[in-house]
Amino acid sequence: MTLKERYAEILAWFRVNRPIAETELHYSNPFELLIAVILSAQCTDKRVNLITPPLFHDFPTPEAMAATTPEVIYEYIRSVSYPNNKAKHLVGMAQKLVELFHGEVPESLEELVQLPGVGRKTANVIQSVVWGKAAMAVDTHVFRVSHRLGLVSSRCTTPYSVEMALMKHIPKEEVPIAHHWLILHGRYVCMARNPQCDKCGLQLACKYFGQTYKLQQEKRKREELNKVKSKGIKK
Ligand code: SF4
Repeated sequence: MTLKERYAEILAWFRVNRPIAETELHYSNPFELLIAVILSAQCTDKRVNLITPPLFHDFPTPEAMAATTPEVIYEYIRSVSYPNNKAKHLVGMAQKLVELFHGEVPESLEELVQLPGVGRKTANVIQSVVWGKAAMAVDTHVFRVSHRLGLVSSRCTTPYSVEMALMKHIPKEEVPIAHHWLILHGRYVCMARNPQCDKCGLQLACKYFGQTYKLQQEKRKREELNKVKSKGIKK
């Protein structure tokens, strides 16, 4: 199977089987999504969704959050990973929004990465989810699933190289949903430790599955051959 065929088959499968794929973070405006995405680094969306309602209620605008301190924010977010750093980032991010962008979440990558706590991945999520731009955020799930499926070469060892490889082959208008396809597939089917290949509809297009299946077949053949040989020797 060529790379082109692999992309075509995988994207077609997702189109038919996952016509709706969205972020699982709860939010009602770009500022809330930005907060939630910053909090979700190395943490589950479920946990983030548990703690954001009071945070959003008490700090509904960048101005309100900019006027508080990381110590106060810490009390709201203490159950997520790295709460100290994230509390500093949230207050710093809100202050920069007020200072540089009139309290609005900006659109471009260059502007977004000026905000504390916002790297390329977070900026791509905001560009894609809020502004519908063709930006591929590569998190741990997108990275792993892209490699397993064979969408990117084993030489793509950084999130940036995976992003570039995916962007080369996925149609621009489909990049925002493809990001969610890969994340959700990684979260619920193609898990890191125990991929559920028996329940996965992508087996025939998946490089990892093909290799594993081939190895199993070869092993079985070797075992059968050994059995035949040892019977022959006994005779
Ligand atoms: S077949 Fe297995 S390894 Fe391949 S995408 Fe599906 S779950 Fe992941």
